[in-house]
Amino acid sequence: MSLAGNSSQSKPLVLDENRLFAADPAQRAIARRLYAQVAQLPIVSPHGHTDPSWFAGNAPFANAAELLLVPDHYVFRMLYSQGVPLDALGIPRRDGTRAEVDPREAWRLFAERFHLFRGTPSSMWLNHVFHEVFGLRQRLDAGNADAYYDTITEALQTDTFRPRALFERFNIEVIATTESPLDPLTHHAAIRDSGWSGRVITAYRPDPVIDPEHEQFPSALQRFGEITGEDVHTWEGYLRAHRQRRAFFASLGATSTDHGHPDCTTADLPVDEARKLFDKIVRGQFSAAEAATFRGQMLTEMAAMSLDDGLVMQLHPGCFRNHNQGLFEKFGRDKGADIPVRTEYVHALKPLLDRFGNEPDFRLILFTLDESTYSRELGPLAGHYPCLLLGPAWWFHDAPEGMWRFREQTLSTAGFYNTVGFNDDTRAFLSIPARHDVARRIDCAFLAKLVAEHRLDEDEAVEVAVDLAYRLPKQAYKL
Ligand SMILES: [Zn+2]
Repeated sequence: MSLAGNSSQSKPLVLDENRLFAADPAQRAIARRLYAQVAQLPIVSPHGHTDPSWFAGNAPFANAAELLLVPDHYVFRMLYSQGVPLDALGIPRRDGTRAEVDPREAWRLFAERFHLFRGTPSSMWLNHVFHEVFGLRQRLDAGNADAYYDTITEALQTDTFRPRALFERFNIEVIATTESPLDPLTHHAAIRDSGWSGRVITAYRPDPVIDPEHEQFPSALQRFGEITGEDVHTWEGYLRAHRQRRAFFASLGATSTDHGHPDCTTADLPVDEARKLFDKIVRGQFSAAEAATFRGQMLTEMAAMSLDDGLVMQLHPGCFRNHNQGLFEKFGRDKGADIPVRTEYVHALKPLLDRFGNEPDFRLILFTLDESTYSRELGPLAGHYPCLLLGPAWWFHDAPEGMWRFREQTLSTAGFYNTVGFNDDTRAFLSIPARHDVARRIDCAFLAKLVAEHRLDEDEAVEVAVDLAYRLPKQAYKL
């Protein structure tokens, strides 16, 4: 593909082959050797948020802005923080409308401000996409914004840039999406029935019907009853509805559930107390503390169901969602206004672990947005309980520094083998190879340091690098 733009001021876009490796020559040489063993391994993506309709319909992506700006809250939160209104980018509003914005204009706003992303993971991922997926060889700036837009948008209209072709080009062995229990999974069924060999599976994310403080909880509960034919306003019927939907999700490939709770509270109430609490929840007459206890009880119920149906449980706690009230009212969820909060695991998980912590067939993958818990709580917990594994550095910490801190603070207590390898956790489909590449490079850089310090032999480091990139995610998520 040709160079983007003809602006003489534009600088070359270079992906250095040594990026993210140590500057020290000995460590760098080891890292390069390790990386050579993992660079071409297939991508296993056990947790993420791509849209299954892309792979079901295989329609071309519309244009550069619609593909790279509008769905990526990492990108528009940074632009918003520097004074760009979401309407100027054409971000859909809560009521389903969106400002009439020429996508090219939105792209120009982004290109003029691309310097805001310097040093961030977003710029690393985007530059990787520009260079590797679209063959662009100039750095994005105001001067080449239109040429970039045209190159990307024209490429997207060709067959090789359709979702299934990209899936194959990216060497994705399996990818999991995330759906609500209310989702009919028609796209997953269509993919399965299409005869296409790409493996796209779902994951059971029941937050909308488990969190009484979710703004759509009453209507979601109603729909949950309709879709399952269970009386979900009784405790037993509600639990049966979950079992039924989990089985349906598993029939479309799900191997995991995912729980995005504000904190890590778990509870293990006697059944009559659980029933009484559920009655309050259903009537909408509950305190914030009771809502937390209910979510915690449901984590334990989900663990019980996992023991029966084998779905691996993931817990993503510790995010204050929709912190910007005015923005939430206009634009709704997932608009870049989620902020990490302090999170406690040791006391919070005890009720669940008291019941299931020693079950050989139970598996719970823990994530955090509170890095202070790595060495104090998460590493020691995962380094003891057979059911616990640590998910990778997540969201705000899915960055070279965050991955490095994760390894430094969990290695001594949890080792490498109580961790699950990388999750890209993204809806930005084109960035998936970039994200996995960063994770592989950082793990190789980290291992290279251990080898250089004679804490590990190089053949051991090669094995660990391959395990982290490929084998552990498959094993942890039963893929
Ligand atoms: Zn996620």
